[in-house]
Amino acid sequence: MTDDYRHEGARRVGQVKEITSLANPIIKDIKALTLKKARDETKSFMAEGLKLVIDALDLGWTIRTLVYAKAAKGKPMVEKVAARTIASGGLVLEVSEKVMSSITRRENPQMVAGIFEQRWAALKEVRPSGTETWVALDRVRDPGNLGTIIRTADAAGASGVILVGDCTDPFSLETVRATMGSLFAVPLVKTTPADFLRWKKDCGVRLVATHLAGAVDYRTIDYRSKPVVLMMGNEQSGLPDDLAAAADSLARIPQTGRADSLNLAVATGVMLFEVRRHLLVLDKPQ
Ligand code: SAM
Repeated sequence: MTDDYRHEGARRVGQVKEITSLANPIIKDIKALTLKKARDETKSFMAEGLKLVIDALDLGWTIRTLVYAKAAKGKPMVEKVAARTIASGGLVLEVSEKVMSSITRRENPQMVAGIFEQRWAALKEVRPSGTETWVALDRVRDPGNLGTIIRTADAAGASGVILVGDCTDPFSLETVRATMGSLFAVPLVKTTPADFLRWKKDCGVRLVATHLAGAVDYRTIDYRSKPVVLMMGNEQSGLPDDLAAAADSLARIPQTGRADSLNLAVATGVMLFEVRRHLLVLDKPQ
């Protein structure tokens, strides 16, 4: 990565660069964000689309670089986002369509993309209370599943997602896309199984783990008397014994038909809307 992209700060205030060359080092660094190594090193990631960028800024995320296609120049919302980026010390790039396509790896790319700082919450600061629900994922591997789960957790009103063990990166392009913006609204924690088990012991939650061998119908569990941590197993191997043993309930979703199990994201959705059923209401008609 070039020095230009790593060291953000006040020196960039006021900068708006026009770039048409794919060989430009800033563009190369942005393109490198498709690799986890580059995202980890720079602690940043890319989100595409004007709406997403505005949502992220409104929710207080730090933007490092705003990229927009030439065709978006002069559009009031784009100008506004550019001004906000510059005001917060970020860089604004006006690029050709060709450069935009190469950054987003799409033939019909979004007109706007933002490079944001990653944000993680610390497990020791998570103290679930009242009606809170947290989702804990054991070694989730599929980026689409993780994105869908983050989106579903947001929709169900969950307080956050805890990634336990070796999980896929929530800041990959595929996961960010699948979250449809919910990434910016759902706190994320990453931890080890050992730290997760220690944390669970002293935080007064009900750990409901889902398991194909679970003896309890998921619709019979008490989700109201304590905050709930809903634990889901890995796509291939399910939940390991040590995590399953720490659960207060081992829940199963009854199935018929030929499939052995539900897709992880689908199972998480079914569970989340049951856990939070008593809390979710339709908007009252006017
Ligand atoms: N072969 C894996 C196994 O034996 O557990 C299948 C894993 S399944 C694709 C991924 C996760 O989704 C499971 O670990 C569990 O958390 C959840 N899941 C899927 N179907 C479920 C069901 N019918 N009841 C409870 N949990 C389920």
